[in-house]
Amino acid sequence: MNLLWYKVTDLRTKDHSALFNSFVGKKNVIIVFFIDPRFYQNMKFEHIKFDKFKDRFMLESVLNLFNKIKEYRGHLNIYFDKPEDKIPELVEKYDVKEIFSISDTTDEELKIVRKLKDRCKNIKYTESWDNTLFDIESIPKKIPDIFTNFRKSVNLKDIKDPIEFNLKKLKKSVVDVDNINIVKDKLNKLNFDTQFEGGEDNAWKRLNYYFFDKQLLSNYKKTRNGLLGMDYSSKFSPYLAFGNISARSIYQMIKNYEENVEKNDSTYWLYFELLWRDYFRFLSIKYGNKLFKLTGIKDRKIKWKPYDKKTLELFEKWKNGETGYPYVDANMIEMKSTGFMSNRGRQMVASFLVKDLKIDWRMGAEYFESILIDYDVASNYGNWNYASGVGTDPRDDRYFNVYKQGMNYDKDCKFILNWIPELEKFNKKDILNKRNLTTYYKPIVQIKNYYK
Ligand code: FAD
Repeated sequence: MNLLWYKVTDLRTKDHSALFNSFVGKKNVIIVFFIDPRFYQNMKFEHIKFDKFKDRFMLESVLNLFNKIKEYRGHLNIYFDKPEDKIPELVEKYDVKEIFSISDTTDEELKIVRKLKDRCKNIKYTESWDNTLFDIESIPKKIPDIFTNFRKSVNLKDIKDPIEFNLKKLKKSVVDVDNINIVKDKLNKLNFDTQFEGGEDNAWKRLNYYFFDKQLLSNYKKTRNGLLGMDYSSKFSPYLAFGNISARSIYQMIKNYEENVEKNDSTYWLYFELLWRDYFRFLSIKYGNKLFKLTGIKDRKIKWKPYDKKTLELFEKWKNGETGYPYVDANMIEMKSTGFMSNRGRQMVASFLVKDLKIDWRMGAEYFESILIDYDVASNYGNWNYASGVGTDPRDDRYFNVYKQGMNYDKDCKFILNWIPELEKFNKKDILNKRNLTTYYKPIVQIKNYYK
């Protein structure tokens, strides 16, 4: 018997080397997934690890995976345990010879694997690198710190084609437990409106919509800095975060689009953005736990506000969209209500927290970790390092001015008014400059200069 361990970051059947490898040969396979009790625990700054958006997207992804495997007469065993506790039991029970999974790069995940290996000492453990565009082998040994240098160091030819797996092989998987009804019950309880639905089928539906039905990819470079609606950017991030689709598959479809529809700056730009994702993933290998430290991967000391009652009050106002700056608040309200925020918005609110409020960036990063539907450890902590001046941004002094950002990206206040309709009665320039907003929150910090 082999054991295939699905993690929360690889919930798919397409382009999955660990799945492919576990079914090579004549052995039966026990396929397992864990709804780990730690998903529902609080982290360092008291945010639950999986808030409702992530939780629901994860459960939908698992349900879809379960059904896809079942379609081919296979079975996904779902447990509500810690993998490092349950897998050793299964190894014993089924005389498992080899464990397969995708590989991780960050401490929390690596610790679990280390524990598991320790408990299953005589078992072969094979990990596959599956969740980036570029394979780990095609990356220079000394990973460049600056994004542009990283981009120049990789070669498009090194992106592998997605792996083809014969799904008929799934019938060789075995049933240990059937807990899908518990997953369905949990899902029924998470009953709220959302524009995202997890799962491999939905990932491909989104891709086909964005690329081929609407050909939105042709204008991606022009629209990607938008704020409102589903179509200004790809919205692939939740599907990538839960591994419903692989970056390699998306790249293959970009090439298909370029051959059959159009090749232009926009088609290149989606690849360019996916490269940022790779970059942060590879940096997380290079810098390990520094990614999570206050001084970041640069070991840079910055004076932050003390962690006290006053700071926590400001932090809560930031989280709840009550800073008194409508452009910041609208973004925060969007995230709180949907689990998603645009890239423009994320850059703005992160800058506001760290550069204007001078609050410990890890508190913001942890809140994002809890609430973002597309939370990805390396992208989240990498971007927060970058935004806080403790990461790899070659410009230490990068600062997003809330007035300027609002003026550039939401001049007519459509986005702000969508999330804060009570501001409708005010003049738009006043909204952007937070001037004369007599009935709105008082600004929690003063920011110099505004735009006329
Ligand atoms: P698109 O513009 O369509 O981009 C396509 C894909 O490229 C994205 O899905 C994503 O995989 C990748 N990508 C784009 N920009 C970035 C970037 N700056 N860094 C890494 N990958 C990128 N992205 C996450 O996926 N998970 C996170 O937890 C996350 N946290 C962030 C925290 C901060 C403070 C900031 C500034 C950015 C963060 N991002 C994160 C990056 C980016 O904001 C999102 O990937 C993007 O907004 C997702 O929307 P999209 O899929 O429509 O993006």
